[in-house]
Amino acid sequence: MVKYKIKKNDTVKVVCGKDKGKTGKVVKIDSNKGRVVVQGVNLVKKAMKPKSQNEKGGIVSIEAAMDISNVRMICKKCGPTRLGFKVDGKEKTRICKKCGDTI
Ligand SMILES: [Zn+2]
Repeated sequence: MVKYKIKKNDTVKVVCGKDKGKTGKVVKIDSNKGRVVVQGVNLVKKAMKPKSQNEKGGIVSIEAAMDISNVRMICKKCGPTRLGFKVDGKEKTRICKKCGDTI
């Protein structure tokens, strides 16, 4: 299994596809498939059947998973960037590959 540097609750920027340029929070990561779900991004309309008498069903927008390579972490200095790791003793921190700042 591949370890991804992006984690749940990270704010990422979409660099590919129809929602290019949007930013959002990572709500789900499927590291087996290399897919992420980002809040408010890659919305698809889905027809919901009413589950109970209180629900109407109808068309709802949900976030569809997309390839993890379509999103980048955001560095305050450089913008969307790739991440690296810096190991300091036992601490492992994520850094921007461009400027070396901790993210
Ligand atoms: Zn940077």
